[in-house]
Amino acid sequence: CGGGARPADVPAHVWDKIKDHPCYSEEAHHFFARMHVAVAPACNIQCNYCNRKYDCANESRPGVVSERLTPEEAARKVIAVSNAVPQLSVLGIAGPGDSLADWRKTFETFERVNAVLPDLKFCLSTNGLALPDHLDALSRLNIDHVTITLNAVDPDVGAGLYAWVAFRGKRYHGRDAAQILLERQMEGLEGLVARGILVKINSVMVPGINDEHLPEVNRVVREKGGFLHNIMPLISDPAHGTAFGLSGQRGPTPAELKALQDRLGGGAGLMKHCRQCRADAIGLLGEDRGQEFSMDRIPETVT
Ligand code: SF4
Ligand code: SF4
Repeated sequence: CGGGARPADVPAHVWDKIKDHPCYSEEAHHFFARMHVAVAPACNIQCNYCNRKYDCANESRPGVVSERLTPEEAARKVIAVSNAVPQLSVLGIAGPGDSLADWRKTFETFERVNAVLPDLKFCLSTNGLALPDHLDALSRLNIDHVTITLNAVDPDVGAGLYAWVAFRGKRYHGRDAAQILLERQMEGLEGLVARGILVKINSVMVPGINDEHLPEVNRVVREKGGFLHNIMPLISDPAHGTAFGLSGQRGPTPAELKALQDRLGGGAGLMKHCRQCRADAIGLLGEDRGQEFSMDRIPETVT
């Protein structure tokens, strides 16, 4: 199956890149599989909603911890999975920290896999802080989708979301931290669009902090050429110590999330079927066969 016909509102150059991607094409998610490999444990910022024991909220839920892999192990795992799951079309790196904080591991993984499986598509997600430093490398590695977690386009709002940002050897706090992160995210977004790399934006909705501000984020995403905007609810899980910062901020109710999505109905294509998969998810969307492919079940050599 080629993922069906191109919808009238999707430009041809975008359709080319998303038609086999289970996350972006409603059609493709029945026929193509994706996998994430957790090769990126480090992070260069501290979000108030993350306690670093669990996978990055970029793409994942609290309460689950990924198997940390070296690039060599990750490449072996991808090859073993592609032998067992012929629908595999996309490899993503989404944490468990930030995929570009320790970019060498991320890039080495893509290079090793590409040498054996040149048809696999690659994507990654990032908080965007390191993005402007790697734009040409991402283009060279043939990464055709990047997800940036962008929770605010106003540093005063961002100051309530981030405890610190580590940048060029210095740690920043409060509004200064949010300002640096925002400038880097905007530079990264524009640089990716200029290179023809599709950009999806994730925003974590935190009631009382950025919920009223997200329509403005959506407007900026659309203006700058992001092709999808995915609003993710803060998943607050006090039992696992993942309540928001020290204030124990709750996540939005399903009704609050839906009300915001409805309000943004006309904005940059809203994505409603993202499942916030964990950083080592494997399989068709909605299924996770990660346990079947834990490292102890992968042979020492795979071809
Ligand atoms: Fe945690 Fe992800 Fe935020 Fe880093 S970017 S602090 S890993 S939620
Ligand atoms: Fe797709 Fe969302 Fe899952 Fe990533 S987290 S693989 S974008 S559904």
